[in-house]
Amino acid sequence: GITFEECDSLVKEFERVVKNPVTNGSSVYYTGVDLGTACVVVAVLDENFKPAAGAYRYADVVRDGMVVDYIGAIRIVREMKEELEEKLGCELLYAAAAIPPGTDELDSGAIKNVVQGAGFEITALLDEPTAANAVLKIKNGAVVDIGGGTTGISILKDGKVVYVADEATGGTHFSLVISGAYGLPFGEAERYKRDPSHHKELLPVLKPVVEKISSIINRHLEGHQVEGIYLVGGTCCLAGIEDIIEKRTGIPTYKPDNPMFVTPLGIARSC
Ligand code: ATP
Repeated sequence: GITFEECDSLVKEFERVVKNPVTNGSSVYYTGVDLGTACVVVAVLDENFKPAAGAYRYADVVRDGMVVDYIGAIRIVREMKEELEEKLGCELLYAAAAIPPGTDELDSGAIKNVVQGAGFEITALLDEPTAANAVLKIKNGAVVDIGGGTTGISILKDGKVVYVADEATGGTHFSLVISGAYGLPFGEAERYKRDPSHHKELLPVLKPVVEKISSIINRHLEGHQVEGIYLVGGTCCLAGIEDIIEKRTGIPTYKPDNPMFVTPLGIARSC
């Protein structure tokens, strides 16, 4: 398949600083806030755009790009900000955020207000595929963002987003299938799914949903010249998902080390 060394090393470095923040006395920090349906990720880059710190938290404050728990969202982002400030020993002033493709003006306003309400000065509000591509740097290809509630498909031509679509199939459906197959309550199925040691066993159970997502991808890519598919979003953490998608689409498919961190890093890079 395709390899993207720069993206991979950035994601790996970010995974390291989530555990051990780097305090190198940077004169300025750039923060990216990614408010997702299942997860809030905050990425902090130093003055040289190198990962300095990061945090993520599972939360139920946004649904399909819409802030459903406004107060909760502000509290979580503020807490994560304070936590990171303490680790870095300095105040984080600036942040950028992203909105899923197709989000209307009111919802994007809410996301902006959450980031400001948490105490940041907002410097940019960009769409998710553009943010992801600040790290991936694809010229011609498709970014497929499989999140909790939805799958976003974006096509890039000469480095610009030329087509976006959002379909209501995502990681939540994986958890529903696991819940049914194993007789587990949804929350337990969700936690079971996230444990990488269960992925090998889960892949055959989840194959039909991955195939459905693959056919959705095929439908949207039809008629476009796409050289590669780049997987981002938490659901792509599932080991082996890339092989099924590559087989069903017939397009070389690339998955970074931790697909959940690509968009947040791209948001921070655009701060
Ligand atoms: P949306 O894009 O639909 O608004 P989101 O932005 O919150 O959702 P992400 O944070 O990218 O989406 O992904 C969340 C999904 O990823 C959830 O369904 C979650 O269960 C799944 N997920 C997270 N980590 C893992 C993992 N290790 N293995 C499998 N699935 C995972």
